[in-house]
Amino acid sequence: MLMSRFSRLLQPFLNCSLCQSDRVTQASVCQDCWQQLPWLKQTIHRQEIPIQVAAYYRYPLDRMIQQFKYEQQLHYLPLFGHILNQLKFPKVQAIVPMPISQQRLIERGYNQALLLAEHLAKQLNVPIWQPILRQEQQHQKGLNRLERLSNIEQQFVLHAPSKVRYRRILIVDDVVTTGSSIQALSLKLQQLGCQQIHVACLATPSYIDNII
Ligand SMILES: [Zn+2]
Repeated sequence: MLMSRFSRLLQPFLNCSLCQSDRVTQASVCQDCWQQLPWLKQTIHRQEIPIQVAAYYRYPLDRMIQQFKYEQQLHYLPLFGHILNQLKFPKVQAIVPMPISQQRLIERGYNQALLLAEHLAKQLNVPIWQPILRQEQQHQKGLNRLERLSNIEQQFVLHAPSKVRYRRILIVDDVVTTGSSIQALSLKLQQLGCQQIHVACLATPSYIDNII
């Protein structure tokens, strides 16, 4: 009885979290599933900002990211960290996770970008830096493209002034779509004196590849 309960507890760690095979070799997935992930491992451009992206936001990664974000399936974190590690990171002084609003934080219980950033910070041996807060998003309905951009920019506000300033930083986010929030965050970081801003994301939907 105790043993079966124990093995049930261990089950998610022993079997591939995608195909349930017992040959786990990469984080929590088997070699076959690892190779079949929708890899991208490229630099894409959004709002004229170069963004390193590990994979496409496609099955099965899209489902995993949704469960990670909205269903507290935090056991995916080591796998996502391992996926992000496939990118080549420049030398930076700190990592800035994409902030989420207080309201989202309360709903969700955590900032998924911060969890990813913490994983990378350990790997790269640099601190996490969160100098910018994010306010709740206003309704975007009925706004034109420029109004939307300025609406997004207004969401990002400087945290209480701090003496700590970094010049070379890496922004980390889970999914990049239009890149407008990355652009708005970058602008604020530039105001703080950041000179080299790099961006890394876990995934991007392929259907907006034409948007720049
Ligand atoms: Zn598998």
